[in-house]
Amino acid sequence: MAQEYPTKIQIQEGIEMLLSHTEKKEAEIIETESAYGRILAQEIKSQENIPPFDRSPYDGYAIRSVDVASAFHDRPVTLKIIEEVPAGHAPVKEVGPQEAVKILTGAPVPKGADAVVKYEDTSFDEKEVCFFSPVSSGSNIVKAGEDIKKGEIVLHPGQVLDPAAVGMLAGMGYSRVSVYKKPIVKIISTGDELLEIDSELAPGKIRNSSAYMLKGFLGEWGLQADIYGIVKDDTDAICSAICACMEDADLVITTGGASVGDYDLVLEALEKAKARVLFWKVAMKPGMATLAAVRDGKMILGLSGNPSAAAAALFLLGIPVFRKMCGRENWEVSRIPVCLPDGFPKGSPGGRILPGTLQFRDGQVCINTQKHQANGMISPWSNCNVIGLIPKGAGPLEPGSIIEGLYLEEG
Ligand code: AMP
Ligand code: MG
Repeated sequence: MAQEYPTKIQIQEGIEMLLSHTEKKEAEIIETESAYGRILAQEIKSQENIPPFDRSPYDGYAIRSVDVASAFHDRPVTLKIIEEVPAGHAPVKEVGPQEAVKILTGAPVPKGADAVVKYEDTSFDEKEVCFFSPVSSGSNIVKAGEDIKKGEIVLHPGQVLDPAAVGMLAGMGYSRVSVYKKPIVKIISTGDELLEIDSELAPGKIRNSSAYMLKGFLGEWGLQADIYGIVKDDTDAICSAICACMEDADLVITTGGASVGDYDLVLEALEKAKARVLFWKVAMKPGMATLAAVRDGKMILGLSGNPSAAAAALFLLGIPVFRKMCGRENWEVSRIPVCLPDGFPKGSPGGRILPGTLQFRDGQVCINTQKHQANGMISPWSNCNVIGLIPKGAGPLEPGSIIEGLYLEEG
């Protein structure tokens, strides 16, 4: 019996349907040094203060501030140097009245001292040091725990490990860390016209370009994407490729054959593979010919063969879903107002998706888009970090019009 599923759905409906079938993967322990960009799967509570001890941020002298209370430029106070503490060494002596300890940047402040005075503000020889002005208690002392306090929850599960987070893990002594496994994606390129990238062109043929673009975007978003290869426009061939990929992939993406032409066979192949179709066709331009299905808890996305349409569907429907799949706690894409410096020349009954690059012009956040954009093009997606959404029913838009944009660069 033919399956029933919604068609011509809104983008948000599609996202919600996909999210309801999306689970993150289990966690794995990896070396902290390889954890950049990965999604943390554990809570990190610091067992230590960072820095672990009160320390000096300068080369200078650790003293008791009361001892220099009467110091003045023509009436300096002289204190006796009792010890020298370089970084990496612990002070042995306590600073008593009329005493100073020579201290180097990063060294622990000795007991008894409550201030550090920089070299430049003193005059000294081997044995004594002179001060020319008073200092307040606590001056030039970096307190233990300034960066991270013992017992503080520093990082949360679902957070992207950016360079600062990896640095903090290192500082707290985590050489290994628990992160979510990367979802595995297989990309199947369907179409009789497709050639491998190292093939000579032949009449009517083109090289498979979109698989390489999709793999790159998915990789940037934290998934492990592999190119399965080219499959002919043949239902059985597409069905077996999908089944083969589902063996070890968490998500299968097909391109081509998702529209209504005689050779658009992905839908048929999915039914043959006993996948349940979630929806077919989404109200978006480009990217209308998009379908989604599930089998055994795994998802299949059928994208258009047109690279720009495939990218639009991947970005608009896919990003929130991929973020959730990767284990991120925040998967929603932020919306920001952006200015269209050159306007948008055409009326748009159904709305338009405009890939672009953020630019600041005259204090305004603008979207810089390529003038000519079409379904079959890849170039409009280069350096894309924002997507402008031309609303449904918008007439030609004047230069300087403000539209909603999807901001894609958040961590
Ligand atoms: P389809 O979605 O199969 O109707 O294909 C739409 C358009 O995209 C056609 O012009 C195809 O030749 C082109 N196309 C299909 N697959 C790819 C691909 N992997 N790389 C580049 N262009 C493609
Ligand atoms: Mg085709």
